[in-house]
Amino acid sequence: MTGGVVSTTGVAGLTLGGGLGWLMSKHGLALDNLQSVELVTANGRVLQASSKEHPDLFWATRGGGGNFGVVTSFEFQLHSVGPTVTGGIIAHPFERAGDMLRFYRDITAALPDDHTVFAGPEAKKGSICV
Ligand SMILES: Cc1cc2nc3c(=O)[nH]c(=O)nc-3n(C[C@H](O)[C@H](O)[C@H](O)COP(=O)(O)OP(=O)(O)OC[C@H]3O[C@@H](n4cnc5c(N)ncnc54)[C@H](O)[C@@H]3O)c2cc1C
Repeated sequence: MTGGVVSTTGVAGLTLGGGLGWLMSKHGLALDNLQSVELVTANGRVLQASSKEHPDLFWATRGGGGNFGVVTSFEFQLHSVGPTVTGGIIAHPFERAGDMLRFYRDITAALPDDHTVFAGPEAKKGSICV
């Protein structure tokens, strides 16, 4: 499944709020990998919700945060990745931001979904990072 870009982010809030992560280009957000939940509603009922059981509630949990009950278990679709996964940051001097972002725009337009890439400034270090 897609975990957080920051891998220490809690799985519950991450999934209930969406869930941006390194596998999202290929496998969607964390919530796209959610198959079912068990949750406790405000009136104390324990329910299973999925595309087949309480589908409206299931839809609402996928992005609706903690507004619809306390989720006590999550069932996820898993995907094989690897055997080699490459990642990292490349920092460029901020003065090169224009060239770098034009290059980034051109190269990413044709990348397959196996790649998840971001570009943005790192204000403290005065650099632009990919
Ligand atoms: C340092 C940092 C890095 C982050 N990185 C990413 C990232 O890479 N990708 C991304 O998508 N987001 C990221 N986020 C945002 C993060 O996904 C959200 O803040 C998320 O809500 C955190 O979930 P939590 O369970 O850790 O937090 P909490 O603050 O415990 O929960 C957030 C909300 O979800 C509710 N909630 C938590 N658990 C349950 C449950 N079991 N049932 C019902 N409601 C529940 C809480 O009541 C609260 O409203 C990051 C946030 C921080 C601070």
